[in-house]
Amino acid sequence: MEYELVIGLEIHAELNTFAKMFCGCKNDPLEHHPNVNICPICMAHPGTLPVINRDAIEKVIRVGLALGGEISTYSQFDRKNYFYPDLPKGYQISQYKYPIVLGGNLRGIRITRVHLEEDTGRIQHVDGGTASSAGRPATLVDYNRAGVPLMELVTEPDIRTAADARAFAEELHQVLRYVNASDADMEKGQMRIEANISIRSIGEVTFGTKVEVKNINSFRAVEKAIIYELQRQQEVLEQGEKVKQETRGWDDANQSTVSQRSKESAHDYRFFPEPDLPPLNLTKEGGFDIERIKNMLPELPAAKRTRFEEQYGLPSKIISFLISDKRLADYFEQASSELAAWLGAGKKEEFQKASAILASYMSSDLQSLLIAKSATITDIRITPENLAELIKMIYANELSSRAAKDVLARMFADGSDPSNIVEEGNLRQVSDAGALEDIVKKILQENPKPVEDYKKGKEVALQVLVGKVMKETKGAANPVIIKTILTNTLS
Ligand code: ADP
Ligand code: ZN
Ligand code: MG
Repeated sequence: MEYELVIGLEIHAELNTFAKMFCGCKNDPLEHHPNVNICPICMAHPGTLPVINRDAIEKVIRVGLALGGEISTYSQFDRKNYFYPDLPKGYQISQYKYPIVLGGNLRGIRITRVHLEEDTGRIQHVDGGTASSAGRPATLVDYNRAGVPLMELVTEPDIRTAADARAFAEELHQVLRYVNASDADMEKGQMRIEANISIRSIGEVTFGTKVEVKNINSFRAVEKAIIYELQRQQEVLEQGEKVKQETRGWDDANQSTVSQRSKESAHDYRFFPEPDLPPLNLTKEGGFDIERIKNMLPELPAAKRTRFEEQYGLPSKIISFLISDKRLADYFEQASSELAAWLGAGKKEEFQKASAILASYMSSDLQSLLIAKSATITDIRITPENLAELIKMIYANELSSRAAKDVLARMFADGSDPSNIVEEGNLRQVSDAGALEDIVKKILQENPKPVEDYKKGKEVALQVLVGKVMKETKGAANPVIIKTILTNTLS
């Protein structure tokens, strides 16, 4: 029997607002002192009232528009009731019936909805106990994250392969960053993915029983968890049994999923409209100019990819690298526009060639320098203009690739101007054939022995002569050109 996967994703992302969702506390995912960004509102003290953070609503609207979804004119918050120590109020303010966004599409996968809720605190179990637990295991709670705005996106069960699920998550990650809704760092838990997975025999129209997998902590794990479930569910069916509807957790250490709870223990959340918050009127009258927000959206990754292919003719792998971070793509385009101005109009082929050199230096040498310093493109001291200046010299064959690497490293270290570095170090490569021919003539006159050897058929003698010319030009000559001139002169 051959089986096919059916997958729907539920993805949470912490929004990168300045303040929390319903109070003025700082939303700071990097704060590691516990319980400093808290107040009576996010601690749910009696008598306090939540106030909606407009910025969070606008960020979800931007995500919705970027995904081609419909922004609801009417939206409201609901209470989702359950008890857990990381939830101070005993309920989570979420959205149930009236999410901010309905519909949308990414990579051909239909999006069901995007809604807004508040994040919970963080719980840490300390098996060895703490100073005050007298050696007994203890549980610590940090409420810095409680009340941080959290968006949840749900897809239709349209995904059919593990690779497509991963690609969807990766592209969503980029979109969230492009529209500045979330930093979406999976390692920091700013983006969390749950995969609903079922299988059915090929040709079958109804869906099989789904399993929900949580604790997926990387894009690689999305793919791995789905592949694992395909295998596991297939074995269950082949033994004549039924797949149990349950929640499982991805265990990264063992590269497997583990049962967490069955459907029978599912919560009844007793949703009802949040009485402490007014409903949202997401129209111009309500203070949300959707058209204007839409017009302010940046170019999105998919559109940028198509344009980069057309405009720069770069290989798809390099484009993926450049568009992975909008700031990287912007930097590239700034430098590239310098190259365009330098080459002049109507030089598409030359422009694409120069841009390819630029992209290649950005993705290899420059990227290595950044990684070695744990830095990103925003920390860089090289201006796009100066990088373009370097690329022009490389393009014009004025620098050997060895010298280019050294110049780039100097620019990276102190932000200095490439032409100054080249002049000071006398690094400009002599490619001017006329100037080189004179030097070659001089060297041939001064070195009759290797000339004689070469004429007798000793190939290595040519290398000796190349070396002498290089020495004479202090390494600034292009060895390929020297070799050509030498062989022509001696033949
Ligand atoms: P529930 O009521 O259990 O929360 P929903 O219908 O709300 O289920 O769907 C939750 C997620 O599961 C969605 O992403 C949806 O696309 C996905 N899903 C629903 N049914 C299946 C199925 N049979 N196989 C895989 N995914 C599914
Ligand atoms: Zn607070
Ligand atoms: Mg559901």
